[in-house]
Amino acid sequence: SSFTALGLAEPILKALNDEGYESPTPIQAGAIPHLLQGRDLLGLAQTGTGKTAAFALPILQHILENPRRTPARGMRALILAPTRELAAQIGANFAAYARHMKFSYAVVFGGVGQGRQVDAMKRGVDVLVAAPGRLLDLVGQGHIDLSTPEIVVLDEADRMLDMGFVHDIRRIVAKLPSERQTLLFSATMPSSIRDLAHSLLNDPAIEQV
Ligand code: AMP
Repeated sequence: SSFTALGLAEPILKALNDEGYESPTPIQAGAIPHLLQGRDLLGLAQTGTGKTAAFALPILQHILENPRRTPARGMRALILAPTRELAAQIGANFAAYARHMKFSYAVVFGGVGQGRQVDAMKRGVDVLVAAPGRLLDLVGQGHIDLSTPEIVVLDEADRMLDMGFVHDIRRIVAKLPSERQTLLFSATMPSSIRDLAHSLLNDPAIEQV
């Protein structure tokens, strides 16, 4: 498939085949080469465009190519998402794309007990998908360490701002390592998103679909 031409590894290609994906969507074809090179990305894409795989596949490739123990209470990649539904969906997509490799993930969001989320983070995970409010609660209690991610994704950033998460996002970002790869996806580009992108991204590739 043309996923092969993008340079994705065999376990990922096998999972895409299982999913019935035949060729990359435009956001995937545009973004994946930049992301595999380690570049930051500003992605202007709505839901339904395949944006989840556009960031998930390069993250899984990074984990395959750079095996490392997960840091206790930490993560190799952090995905911020506005709602529990989207966070759960992203987690499920990662699980599907990673089914032929060794991989761990957790999803944290509010409105449910935190005990299982805390337990899931004890040994650290490859990927943490989190809604901002609950993430900050668990960080404040010492259950999650934000100094560890190599890759950080803000998904549906415009919705996160609309929902009033701007201060939470700033507090989260302040705890992240300054050396990291950062991706920001948004369906719209108001000045608030432009400002956020400007402060978080370093010479980003820009993909619009
Ligand atoms: P998303 O925009 O990430 O929410 O994805 C929208 C839908 O498209 C999901 O059901 C994905 O499973 C599906 N999808 C993503 N990439 C592809 C692809 N390359 N080929 C076929 N379906 C895809």
